[in-house]
Amino acid sequence: MQFRDLGAQYAALKDEIDAGIAQVLDSSRFIFGPQVAMLEQALADYVGVRHCVSCANGTDALQLALMAWGVGPGDAVFTADFTFFASAGCASILGATPVLVDIDPRTFNICPDALEAAIRRVEKEGKLRPKVIIPVDLFGLPADYPRIRQIAQKHGLRILEDGAQGFGGQIGEKKACSFGDMATTSFFPAKPLGCYGDGGAIFTDDDATDELLRALRAQGRSPEDKYDNRLIGMNSRLDTLQAAILLPKLRAFARYEVDWANKVAGWYTQRLSGLVEVPYVPEGYRSSWAQYTIQLRDRAQRDGLQAALKTQGIPTMVYYPRGLHQQTAYAGMALSDADFPHTARAAGRVLSLPMHPYLKEEEVEQVANAVASYLKA
Ligand SMILES: *Cc1c(COP(=O)(O)O)cnc(C)c1O
Repeated sequence: MQFRDLGAQYAALKDEIDAGIAQVLDSSRFIFGPQVAMLEQALADYVGVRHCVSCANGTDALQLALMAWGVGPGDAVFTADFTFFASAGCASILGATPVLVDIDPRTFNICPDALEAAIRRVEKEGKLRPKVIIPVDLFGLPADYPRIRQIAQKHGLRILEDGAQGFGGQIGEKKACSFGDMATTSFFPAKPLGCYGDGGAIFTDDDATDELLRALRAQGRSPEDKYDNRLIGMNSRLDTLQAAILLPKLRAFARYEVDWANKVAGWYTQRLSGLVEVPYVPEGYRSSWAQYTIQLRDRAQRDGLQAALKTQGIPTMVYYPRGLHQQTAYAGMALSDADFPHTARAAGRVLSLPMHPYLKEEEVEQVANAVASYLKA
């Protein structure tokens, strides 16, 4: 069994993907070939925003977004403590200060109450300018944007949605990557929508921001004269091959893959409810199931279950074994588990099970039975 079966997906889409790759090789337009703009349009249409700017990966996407807002030294950027490093690293690399916020124990996403308390604290201290909130749509589930939006408005902050794992999720009819003032995603192969290498994208409804992002991803050059650099930018492009691969993958994603992933999640939840803590999806929310993450009683039970599943050929992952407050790079902030009780607790208990749209009900059954027999023993 595979944790995320990219081979099954390739087998299903092989003809279209191979034809797309061949077309790029025949054209030799490896950088900014026409497929890149086609993909950007298709992604913007899918998400329901005016603009999509592709780039080299999800980490660059976050950095480019913060650069477009002029984030730098003296600025506070609030993000969830329980996430992939890039959600905070994007602020640090620009000289801004990430302010880590504990999570909601049920959704794993940034806790709105803890967020507001953190903003108040920074305002009161008066050393940093509160500037941006980066909520993360962890494991595929959108963060609590209705409440985060209220807090952002009240305190005059902008929202940058880190949708690297959330692409394909929804609140009501509104899609992930449309909730922030800007949003980013990643096309790393194992993400809900992945390419065959690295890739990323930024979403915005604002025309001026779209133009600025296009300059910033190309060394800061001006749109009129490519040898006149008005800004200091990056070199961060999605190459044409990856765009050609993503075009048919996006079609399958929109037509059935997110539905199938939700069906798989339903099979798990039906079999595992009562045995372990299963993922919580609030009313009106839809996850794209980047991960199906259960919680065990404690670290010993989690580690024991992981080892037992491994002996039966069932791969699992611990996302994440520690919060960002425990990262060595942030040791200087002198943060402790006591300030992030929900992250600390989750890190010791979470286990992500095999999850992808092509998983069969028999396989889910096999995993659920293995979990049940370990817990009984
Ligand atoms: C994967 C990921 C990123 C970074 O994406 P890359 O394409 O690997 O650079 C950022 N944020 C989150 C939450 C992620 O899971």
